[in-house]
Amino acid sequence: MPELDSTHDPARRSWVPGADAHPDFPIQNLPFCIFSTPGGEPRGGVAIGDAILDLTKALAADLLSSDAARAAETAHGPHLNVMFSLGGKPRQALRSRLSQLLANDSSEKGKVEGCLFPTAECVLHLPSRIGDYTDFYVGIHHATNVGKLFRPDNPLLPNYKYVPIGYHGRASSVVSSGAPVCRPTGQLKSSAEAAPIVGPSQRLDYELELGIWIGPGNELGEPIAIETAADEIAGYCLLNDWSARDIQAWEYQPLGPFLSKNFATTLSPWVVTPEALAPFRTAQPKRPAGDPSPLPYLLDQSDQETGALDIDLEVLLITPTLKRKGLPPHRLALSNTRYMYWTPRQMIAHHTMGGCNLRPGDLLGSGTISAPDPDGFGSMLELTQGGTNAVRLASGEERRFLEDGDEVVLRAHGNRAGYVSIGFGECRATILPAR
Ligand code: CA
Repeated sequence: MPELDSTHDPARRSWVPGADAHPDFPIQNLPFCIFSTPGGEPRGGVAIGDAILDLTKALAADLLSSDAARAAETAHGPHLNVMFSLGGKPRQALRSRLSQLLANDSSEKGKVEGCLFPTAECVLHLPSRIGDYTDFYVGIHHATNVGKLFRPDNPLLPNYKYVPIGYHGRASSVVSSGAPVCRPTGQLKSSAEAAPIVGPSQRLDYELELGIWIGPGNELGEPIAIETAADEIAGYCLLNDWSARDIQAWEYQPLGPFLSKNFATTLSPWVVTPEALAPFRTAQPKRPAGDPSPLPYLLDQSDQETGALDIDLEVLLITPTLKRKGLPPHRLALSNTRYMYWTPRQMIAHHTMGGCNLRPGDLLGSGTISAPDPDGFGSMLELTQGGTNAVRLASGEERRFLEDGDEVVLRAHGNRAGYVSIGFGECRATILPAR
């Protein structure tokens, strides 16, 4: 598990212009990415302020050695799967070395400058070739809110507090921030009696989620114990699990979501490492009286003490009219990763207990993370009580679900007294009309 060290020192400053005041990427963060420059091939980099440090160039400039070089060598291609497979030690060595190179007192400033590219001139890609994607349902307030719409008296099903609920999602349609999302067409049913019709979804929604990148993974048949599950996390991102609620309502029984979810999932492109998030680890919130204790294979003292994260989450909506009128984005929600009922380690231990193998670069989603109160609900379904009560915008518009041209932005920041705040960068996409 990552420890606090000099890379987290709030006194450490960077010589890169603007990095110290950057809301997401000061020198204490250093998230990985796959980027390309105009006319260049996609390759691995690290964010510092508004620039990207090219790892392949840093290697060629002889700035890295031993474990740090070993990690950087895996970043020459268009995916970070091999870097993820190495586990924590080389990744931590690379972080430590980059932190030195980018710090004010660096003796290699001249050489490093030649490895930096302005982020605004780069294209960011998905960081991994995702083999498999699994979406959990660990946001307990979301599960309760959605359950209430169907079962007001008994919102949570009996398995919820025993099983980290999830389903196997679709990896092929996971896209990076900025890629537009087309409104899906599907089977829609207007009432219990009516036959379904085929048309564009009228109830298109977003879901605010935390994404987890899998590191080395496990062999088929060999479960990952909760005690070692932290070693399997290569990093974190923001995840928008777009959801067509009308398609979902008709198709979901008995096997769960299918076309309502498989048309697109948007990720923030930066891999925020467990090391960078070390200051924002926290104890798993105490379960309310009467809740069962996690079963032994999901219970680990270290996980209970430090396995949860305290990351502020935010959802913003930008409509064409807000933009035209020069109005700011409408904040739909403020939430926090503390509202996860299960930790990432519990998700991994549960996922693999039957022997299912996770592979480097696989992706887990947390499920929608809603706060207890309406100003922290992580989906439109919850904010509008299933489309009943519209959200009112400063432009005079109303939204019950997303309309064509709407843009949804997810953001995340770790904030803790005594430490420098870091962010995840944006997870952003605009809705295009149905094809
Ligand atoms: Ca979801």
